[in-house]
Amino acid sequence: MGDFKEHVLFGLFFAMIFMYLLKEVVSLTTWEISLGFIMIFLGSVMPDIDHKNSYVHRAVKAFTSITAALAISIIAPLDFLYRYMAAAITFITVYLGISKIKIKHRGFTHTITFCTLVTSFTILLSTLFLQTAVPGIALGLGILSHLVLDREFKF
Ligand SMILES: [Zn+2]
Repeated sequence: MGDFKEHVLFGLFFAMIFMYLLKEVVSLTTWEISLGFIMIFLGSVMPDIDHKNSYVHRAVKAFTSITAALAISIIAPLDFLYRYMAAAITFITVYLGISKIKIKHRGFTHTITFCTLVTSFTILLSTLFLQTAVPGIALGLGILSHLVLDREFKF
């Protein structure tokens, strides 16, 4: 249940309620609020990476293939023409490779375990590098809102 737009809207709604409830307790900087919104957006659509036809899945597939092709075209010690061919082959291989992976619809990325792991990891990284836990918490809220909308509460 829930398409891309519904998940984003519900994620933002979920975050608004959370922020409203905590408005007396925490005060966020503009920077934290902006980052938080981006992370809620990402989190609210992230679990659908395991849906073959989802927008997120296709976006990640395109992004990964293009990045791999670009990386090859930069690092390959070849002449221009071969470099170009190597990049094209890499693009096709990665793209088809990802398409071949058999992923379970509403599998691991739709579990509380996935949410907890990704949230803890992001809180750790954001605290280390940005001195704020807000991006990690926002990502967690986004993922949680997705699971709520999909009604998936398995571990
Ligand atoms: Zn989903």
